[in-house]
Amino acid sequence: ANLTLEHPALLREAAFVAGEWVGAVAKLAVTNPATGALLAHVPNLGADAALAAVEAAVPAQKAWARLTGKARGAVLRRWGELMIAHQEDLARIMTAEQGKPLAEARGEVAYAASFLEWFAEEARRVTGDVLTPHAADRRILVRKEPVGIVAAITPWNFPLAMITRKAGPALAAGCAIIIKPSELTPLSALALAVLAQEAGVPAGLLSVLTGDAAPIGDVLTGDKRIAKFTFTGSTAVGKKLAARCMDTVKRVSLELGGNAPLIVFDDADLDAAVEGAMASKFRNAGQTCVCANRLLVQSGIYDAFANALSAKVGALSVGSGLDGAFDQGPLIDGRAVAKVQAHVADALAHGASVLTGGDTVSPAGAEQGHFFAPTVLRDVPRDALLCREETFGPLAGLVRFETEEEAIAIANDTDAGLAAYVFTRDIDRAWRVPEALHYGMVGLNTGLISTEVAPFGGVKQSGLGREGSAYGMDDYLELKMVCQAVQ
Ligand code: ADP
Repeated sequence: ANLTLEHPALLREAAFVAGEWVGAVAKLAVTNPATGALLAHVPNLGADAALAAVEAAVPAQKAWARLTGKARGAVLRRWGELMIAHQEDLARIMTAEQGKPLAEARGEVAYAASFLEWFAEEARRVTGDVLTPHAADRRILVRKEPVGIVAAITPWNFPLAMITRKAGPALAAGCAIIIKPSELTPLSALALAVLAQEAGVPAGLLSVLTGDAAPIGDVLTGDKRIAKFTFTGSTAVGKKLAARCMDTVKRVSLELGGNAPLIVFDDADLDAAVEGAMASKFRNAGQTCVCANRLLVQSGIYDAFANALSAKVGALSVGSGLDGAFDQGPLIDGRAVAKVQAHVADALAHGASVLTGGDTVSPAGAEQGHFFAPTVLRDVPRDALLCREETFGPLAGLVRFETEEEAIAIANDTDAGLAAYVFTRDIDRAWRVPEALHYGMVGLNTGLISTEVAPFGGVKQSGLGREGSAYGMDDYLELKMVCQAVQ
């Protein structure tokens, strides 16, 4: 299928640097993971463009910070409204380059716009404090000020939302932002920049750099004019980039990988648990950092849950999102497919068996795509590869447990600590287990926890900082204390 848009101008083959649309001789190809078809070329920029973006951001940020929160919020609100006005085009661009079904892409456009709306409102509520002083002749004031220039590196799995979740609070706080989107999904980011410009984001305040990750990353993590670095992506890359930021002591926010347990107790509502597992595991073909990665199921409900889940999963349709209303699209690339395959092979070699799926598939008309069948394995040993590493694909491995203590111990036995899910109808257990889980977010009897109103983020090696909600402003603000002597 070709990419027809109501507003073809949203599909840009130029990058947005320092308020200008710029090209480059060197290009990066953007392809559709469902078909392998070439979609567009974007400039393959490097360090020079990144430096130009920083240069322009310095005066732009100063002027922007002087505006009232209300004035900044008005621009953010318009930007979010434009996203909704262009929801269909943005969804088509996203499905074309990322692969998720159109219905999910439309949902992401709305989710991404919700952060702009939310932080448009929060912009007016950044309020300082007057403290009770330590001496009768002193007064102490605490001001909240924007950190300054923010650099953001974002992933391909949520090409719009992972940008607005950072750009929303950054601009609301009075910061400038320089964004390097994933080289796999630059078109969504550039469409977002078209709308930012139309909404009235001042020139130089926001740049979107497409191109070579390493040289751009060197500037974004090394330039001392950048005060803050925010990253969503893999744990390995995030750790490396965060370490580089310490040379100039940047403020750092990280949203890294998870290894989410989804725990189903004997006393769970079976239908709710199955529905929660479907939503948490198979959304975006399993390619989210909060996807259930290990399904821990208690003995008494194990067979019933396994049968009900595999029936639902077996009924999911797979295909190219621009060709029809399929339940699941392709994975992002061949490497992603190989990882799922390796996790399946490892589990089978250690005693697991396939209830449904288990291999790659080639939907008619999309034979070049990176598709893997929605898969359920039972009798997965708790030390299988799929329990230790994030699969990031449509593979649900069921692990059996006997007691609550055992489930908690298995769930916490990982360096990750992003999301966890618990299904139970026992009111005591519903307190005990979420309290015992060492995770930043817990879904209790639900598999869907992401919303702009709640803080998103992880503990342990899953990250630093929180995004979304009123708390999400804090990562973009510094406290300044003024202590005054009063006669
Ligand atoms: P994933 O495995 O989900 O693709 P990555 O961590 O590789 O996650 O990618 C997340 C983001 O980090 C992308 O925008 C990617 O281009 C960027 N990235 C990867 N390696 C580097 C690097 N060495 N320097 C700067 N950015 C990088």
